[in-house]
Amino acid sequence: MTTKELDSQYIVHTYGRADVCFVEGKGSELWDEDGKRYIDLGSGIAVNALGACDELWAKAVADQAAKLQHISNLYYTRPMAELAKIMCEKSGMKKVFFGNSGAEANECAIKTARKYGHDHKGEDCNTIITLQNSFHGRTIATLAATGQDVFHTNFGPFPEGFVYVPANDLEAMKKALTENKCAAVMMELVQGEGGVNALDRAYVQEVCKLAREQDTLIVIDEVQTGNGRTGAMYAYQLYGIEPDIVSTAKGMAGGLPMGACMFNERTENTLTAGLHGSTFGGNPVSAAGAVSILSRIDDALLADVRKKGEYIRETLKGAKGVKEVSGLGLMVGIAVEGDAKAILARAREMGVVVLTAKDRIRLLPPLNIPMELLIEGMDILKKAIAECC
Ligand SMILES: *Cc1c(COP(=O)(O)O)cnc(C)c1O
Repeated sequence: MTTKELDSQYIVHTYGRADVCFVEGKGSELWDEDGKRYIDLGSGIAVNALGACDELWAKAVADQAAKLQHISNLYYTRPMAELAKIMCEKSGMKKVFFGNSGAEANECAIKTARKYGHDHKGEDCNTIITLQNSFHGRTIATLAATGQDVFHTNFGPFPEGFVYVPANDLEAMKKALTENKCAAVMMELVQGEGGVNALDRAYVQEVCKLAREQDTLIVIDEVQTGNGRTGAMYAYQLYGIEPDIVSTAKGMAGGLPMGACMFNERTENTLTAGLHGSTFGGNPVSAAGAVSILSRIDDALLADVRKKGEYIRETLKGAKGVKEVSGLGLMVGIAVEGDAKAILARAREMGVVVLTAKDRIRLLPPLNIPMELLIEGMDILKKAIAECC
């Protein structure tokens, strides 16, 4: 049986997969089972932060796998401890909890915010305000946090206590903050799945100020924006705000499953022994991979991310079929005249892998994509966009 036949027979049909089976990757290039070569402008979905099979990353992971792959969280392990130090130093946050995915990181954020509300504001201060068009994950609680009705059919009842307001609408946020007994405001600074929409800086700063006045926590979901993606280590650093809780995942371990929730001085002691946990969370192999990736996301790489993001925006300016370009750094949304799904398929035929978000083309290339490959990839993508409009 072919891979496609096996998949179709034995795997639940939750994904609309493209008809390609990738077998190998090196940096920002991928090869399928027919030996066809592609330029990767998606990094999975912002996961392979330093591309496919980065040598230092692969060695760090292989060495740790050959040494000790897992021991429960009832014991100390070095990679996890070192990783937490790196994350705190690069973020200014105080402590880290490790899980395995974005949804799990957000579950931790939600639990912590609720506990903080109980401890500091009263039993019933548990409402979490999120934004319309947001995406926070696929578990029941993170689906409830997700402000898109399409995700809310079929799976109810959902946990209570989530209120959604339109992004960049300060009056709506003010009203929600006054009318509810709030534990937290939770938001992505660039809504990824929602179409790569960056929030207004002034709006975000004002929301943080209003929330702080009533001791309502600021939770920033950096699952997609984090780990260098936007040209800062974490996107909130671009917004000049000081969140109380930050969740992250996708790119942090360079391709291995890992998520984390970070806390500041306000929230670092909210979760105490026995209140939260994860069997696999922070496992040594993923942690060794994450140390290898995050320790190399330095000022020079971040400057490079911003420069390449600029290049993408420049080269798309006035291009045929391009209406608007959104996002920050190497997190790019392209509003197109044609159908985004058709463009994605055409680009893939022509040897470039891209993503979509709503009706936009979405680009999340490896942070270290070589300039020559980015230029080659963008030239092809522009042709695909022009052909499809
Ligand atoms: C992908 C994503 C999630 C969910 O992450 P999983 O690892 O798939 O659970 C949550 N929030 C944001 C902003 C994301 O982009």
